[in-house]
Parts: sequence; structure tokens; C-alpha cells
Amino acid sequence: MISRTDLRGPLPEDLRDVLPRADLDVEAALEKVRPICDDVHHRGAAAVRELTARFDGVELESTRVSAEAISGALQGLDPKVRAALEESIRRARLVHRDQRRTDVTTQVVPGGTVTERWVPVDRVGLYVPGGRAVYPSSVVMNVVPAQEAGVASLAVSSPAQREFGGLPHPAILAACALLGVDEVYAVGGAQAVAMFAYGTEECPPVTMVTGPGNIWVAAAKRLLKGRIGIDSEAGPTEIAILADSTANPVHVAADLISQAEHDTIAAAVLVTDSMELAEAVERELPRQVAATKHTERITEALSGRQSGILLVDDMEAGLRVVDAYAAEHLEIHAAEASALAARVRNAGAIFVGAYAPVSLGDYMAGSNHVLPTGGCACHSSGLSVQTFLRGVHVVDYSREALAGAAAHVCVLADTEDLPAHGAAIRARFAWEVP
Ligand code: NAD
Repeated sequence: MISRTDLRGPLPEDLRDVLPRADLDVEAALEKVRPICDDVHHRGAAAVRELTARFDGVELESTRVSAEAISGALQGLDPKVRAALEESIRRARLVHRDQRRTDVTTQVVPGGTVTERWVPVDRVGLYVPGGRAVYPSSVVMNVVPAQEAGVASLAVSSPAQREFGGLPHPAILAACALLGVDEVYAVGGAQAVAMFAYGTEECPPVTMVTGPGNIWVAAAKRLLKGRIGIDSEAGPTEIAILADSTANPVHVAADLISQAEHDTIAAAVLVTDSMELAEAVERELPRQVAATKHTERITEALSGRQSGILLVDDMEAGLRVVDAYAAEHLEIHAAEASALAARVRNAGAIFVGAYAPVSLGDYMAGSNHVLPTGGCACHSSGLSVQTFLRGVHVVDYSREALAGAAAHVCVLADTEDLPAHGAAIRARFAWEVP
């Protein structure tokens, strides 16, 4: 069900060749999404509707979801689901509110200051996936940080669902209603990202698109980056677990399965220095997979080349491997879990010890679940308030403060052979600067 690779002995300098990775080629998907994005650019809402008919099997009259449909979804929401969503929102707000930035003013010289002013982007498009599974939790994870950052205009888009009359899943609409979001579109995939980026007759363009999605969503974000801002590429999910002999194989297997459940190309990787644990997890996986709902999807994900058990000599080697892998989610089940977690450099989010499973982070930890995948965690962060802010430097110098810098500016301007730069300074001091 899951492959095992023996990495005991000296580790290769470059670990990339031995790490399990999906044959997921966002570059190749770019060629497929380019015509989709061009079509939306040139033909607007008509193209979005046709693409929705082609990929989601739904004939939309309008891409925009009506206010009645949104409020109706909240009225019809199971009270237990409502209570869970409200608690998820409350916890996410606690964490994201603390991420707000305050402006910082630095006095560089007397009379000369630089202030870093944090300004939210004007308008964002938030993507909520809805192909294989539906993710009301991703509404919470997108909307809460955008709201806490102070974004004035925000729109949500999620695939039209045939079984719900061409609307996004009712739990997604209800989550929007709970968060006070009234601009929602029934559009999925690359066409949703293009609709946000270029704007249509039915959807004004946005300045930034965030949110997780499948390979088509990730490829469209990469293609349109620059025209719009994006968060990280939050593609098919990954879990890596770093575990020693103290780990409970039942927990480890359950957590690997929980993320494999997202997608046939989801990745589940165990890194351990314990042969006993590896064997126990290998025995445990088929037992638990057989007893769960999405057996086929999980089996495909666990047996794919992106998943596997990696045996290492010790936890030091394990740390090197998980850092090279840069997982979206990293769990640590080990005697010294906190100390090991403090030394990890590359991960989207780290879950410490036996009682912080990724499922908690998916819904209720308060942390954000929109996280970088495919190794992007070595250079990108998960979604946060910071994602939606821009730092603007405000430079304020008096005449005296500029005079103190004038000679140095002129020297550097001459060094760069940009004499007009120096002239702009000299002009203010009757051309007296040497
Ligand atoms: P999705 O909403 O991302 O994609 C569905 C859309 O894809 C459809 O609406 C359709 O328009 C489009 N599509 C389908 N087949 C296509 C094709 N052949 N060509 C072009 N477009 C096509 O939903 P999904 O497929 O369920 O994927 C959700 C993904 O999001 C999963 O991989 C899951 O792991 C991931 N996820 C990631 C995070 C994260 O933070 N990294 C969080 C939640 C979910």
C-alpha cells in the first residue's frame, strides 16, 4: 500500500532525487490553462459560463450567486455545523488578529525619518475549492485574515455543483454568510482565477487572488501572477511525519490517511529511525484504510510515488530529510518533539506531539490551513494577515537632514554614472554640494 525507502547510511548531498514527489507538473499545466485564461480575458462572463458547462457540467445563468441563495444556505445549515464553523471562525480570529502590523517609524538622523506604513490591498478574490471535496473551512481560512488585514472589498469563488442547482455547496455559502461576505461566484478552476484577474461584466477585477486548489488553480495563479498578487501555490495537500520509536503507529497511520483523503495525488510521507514503527504503520494502514469512506482515493494517494516511508539512521538525519522535503504540514511524534520542532527550518506548518494532528489545524487550531505545497515552504509562507498587506515606506527629511546626506548621495550618483541624480540634490543647495 505504501512504499518504503531505506535512507540509512550517509545521506546524499542533494536529497531531492530520493524524496517522494508527485509527477505534478504545474509548468506543463500552464499550457492547458493559458487558453482558458485568454478566453476569459477576451470574452468575459460568456467564456466563464461556457467553461463552467464544460468542466463542471452546469449551465449558469449568472456567475454571481444571489443574496437570497446565500442567506437561504445559512437558514438551512445544520445547527451543529453552524456551531463548529462559528468556533472555527472565533479561533482563527484570535490568531489572525494578533498578526496585525503596526506602523514603525525609524529616526535615521535628526529631522530624517522613514515610516513603514502597512496598507491592505484594495480588493481580493478568494478561491475556495470544491471538486473532489468541498471546503467551507477554506472560506474561514481565506476570509478571516483578509478581514483582519482590513481589506475593504472581498469576493469568494467556488465551483458550481450540479447537485445543488449550479450553486457552490450550501455549507460554503453558509460560511460566507456567517462571515458577512455577500459577493460570491459559482465558478471553479482556472476560469475563476482568470475571472478575478481580468474582471468580467459580472465580476469587477481584483488586485490579489488567494486560496488553495488543484493543479489547474495553482497553474492559473502562476500564469497570472504579476497582473495580480497571489499567495503561495497551495496545491494538492502533503503531510510529512517525523517520528521515533515512541510514536503510536495507530495515530501515525490515521494522520497519513487523513491527508491522503484530500486527493489521489495528495502526499503522505513518514520519516522514521525506527524499523519497528515503520513495520507497525505498514500493518496499520490497510486496516484503517479498509474501514474508512474514501478507500479508493486514499489507496491511490498512499501507493503513489509521492507517498512513502523513509527509514533514516536517527532524528538528526530525519531533520535533514524533512527540511529538504519542506512539507506543507509536518507532524513530529517523538520524545523530544518540541526541541526537534524548534530546529525545523522548512515547513508550511509544524504540528508538535501526539495531540496536535493536522486535522486540528485543518479546522480548529486557529492556525491557517492555506499552506505552501510542492516544496514551496522553503521560500513561502501560509496565508496570514501579512499576505494581504503591503509595507509602504514613507520618507520624511528636513532641509538640514538632506544636507547631511547630500555629499554621499552625489558621490554614489557619480559612481553609477547618473549625474542627474546628484543634480537633483545640488539644485536644492544652490549647486554648492561638492
Ligand atoms: P478545485 O476547486 O481546486 O478544482 C475544481 C475545478 O477544477 C473544477 O471546478 C473545474 O473547473 C476544474 N477542472 C477540473 N478538471 C479540469 C481539467 N481537466 N482541466 C481544467 N480544469 C479542470 O477542487 P479539487 O479538484 O477538489 O482540488 C482541491 C485541492 O485543494 C486538493 O488537491 C486539496 O488537496 C487542495 N487543498 C489544498 C490546501 C492547501 O492549503 N494547500 C487546502 C485545502 C485543499
